[in-house]
Amino acid sequence: MKKTVLALLALMASTASLAATPWQKVVQPIPGSAQSIGAFANGCIVGAEGLPLQSSTYQVMRTDQRRYFGHPDLVRFIQRLSQQVHNNGMGTVLIGDMGMPAGGRFNGGHASHQSGLDVDIFLQLPKTRWTSAQLLKPQALDLVAADGKSINSRVWQPEIGNLIKLAAQDSEVTRIFVNPAIKQQLCLEAGSDRDWLRKVRPWFQHRAHMHVRLRCPANSLECEDQALPPAGDGCGAELQSWFEPPKPGATKPVKKTPPPLPPSCQALLDEHVL
Ligand SMILES: [Zn+2]
Repeated sequence: MKKTVLALLALMASTASLAATPWQKVVQPIPGSAQSIGAFANGCIVGAEGLPLQSSTYQVMRTDQRRYFGHPDLVRFIQRLSQQVHNNGMGTVLIGDMGMPAGGRFNGGHASHQSGLDVDIFLQLPKTRWTSAQLLKPQALDLVAADGKSINSRVWQPEIGNLIKLAAQDSEVTRIFVNPAIKQQLCLEAGSDRDWLRKVRPWFQHRAHMHVRLRCPANSLECEDQALPPAGDGCGAELQSWFEPPKPGATKPVKKTPPPLPPSCQALLDEHVL
């Protein structure tokens, strides 16, 4: 039931965000010491860093979108994770959306990625470099079966589970969103070492990528963290509820007006966008 409300809100949020947003007009990071401000889905960032586009351990997709900016902690996390993946001989990490130079709302797709602490990472680990044409129009690999109840075993690789586990074990990561069928597979494959599963949260879509979220940086005083995920590995009843059909008539459409911007983000827009 709760899920259906969330689905509806997600849908409304994505249609509302199709319009251009003033944040797209900010083409360079706002100078200053790095500060993530506000919430993941209603915030901005000062002092963002661009992820270096050349790397031997990761590849950046859709650079034409200029969504490869984030808090320096996020840049460091991506480099750390990719180095671990590389050292384990698992391939290269494919980096999708981070945030825009000053953060803020995208003009399409997801509502979060606003405060420089979120990154989308493809769930495939190529052993070779993709061409620039491939990176500009990346081919997503759907890891979930058509009925959504399990992973597609023809394309699922245990290395993908290891990639998600490595990310979840990073102390700065608080949440990773994946499709419920992917979470289920991780639950099945995990042995006695299960603490990391707590951070891996089932969510709509996310069939070909994971969305990784970092905790608020210690000196970002206006950054709003989320409560920790519920205790436990999250492999029980909560996960199962995602595979149950929605109860008919259980929800009514909810009109949701977007919350006002944090004052510091509004001030930043007033100053930098005419
Ligand atoms: Zn995302």
